[in-house]
Amino acid sequence: MAGDAVIFLGPPGAGKGTQAARLASELGYKKLSTGDLLREHVAGNTELGRLAKPIMERGDLVPDDLILAMVREELAGLEAPHVIFDGFPRTIAQARALDRLLAELGIRLKGVLLVDVGQEELIRRLLERARKEGRSDDNEATIRRRLEVYAQQTQPLVSYYQSTGALRHIEGLGTPDEVYGRVTGALS
Ligand code: ADP
Repeated sequence: MAGDAVIFLGPPGAGKGTQAARLASELGYKKLSTGDLLREHVAGNTELGRLAKPIMERGDLVPDDLILAMVREELAGLEAPHVIFDGFPRTIAQARALDRLLAELGIRLKGVLLVDVGQEELIRRLLERARKEGRSDDNEATIRRRLEVYAQQTQPLVSYYQSTGALRHIEGLGTPDEVYGRVTGALS
């Protein structure tokens, strides 16, 4: 079962979700967003959802083993192994586990796209999203915590993927179309 995967990496508010959704629909890949999956669990009041809810509301990370079990289950249910990861991996432990999982499934990592914009713009976008969508983790205190958690736990993935040669930088400032042009450019 040979397949391909693309990872979107970057701080909350950088626009990964938007870009990942468009790339997935244009390539016909499955988009796998751990944030969306967790929100579905919260909405469905599952055991995982009840556990994850307070953690997400604080802006902290849900434990690696729970995330990995959820991702494994999603990958096992795929018809074609072409996947875009959005918001995963978020820790070095998740990245190592994903490497093993991809190898097991015969999925090749096409690239890791680091979408980045400055801190002030991130906060501005997240607060704007809070007003529009009313996501319960988009208040100012949680936003600050999520940015802190990103810097501490997720930023180390930049050097991790730099050392494997998979990392591509994408400037996240600009219109969604402009950013998307950079995304497809980086993968070609
Ligand atoms: P954003 O990128 O805007 O912060 P996400 O939708 O990706 O939003 O994630 C929302 C929350 O879900 C995170 O703050 C975290 O609590 C949890 N979460 C999502 N993905 C992961 C993951 N891979 N590992 C741990 N926690 C996660």
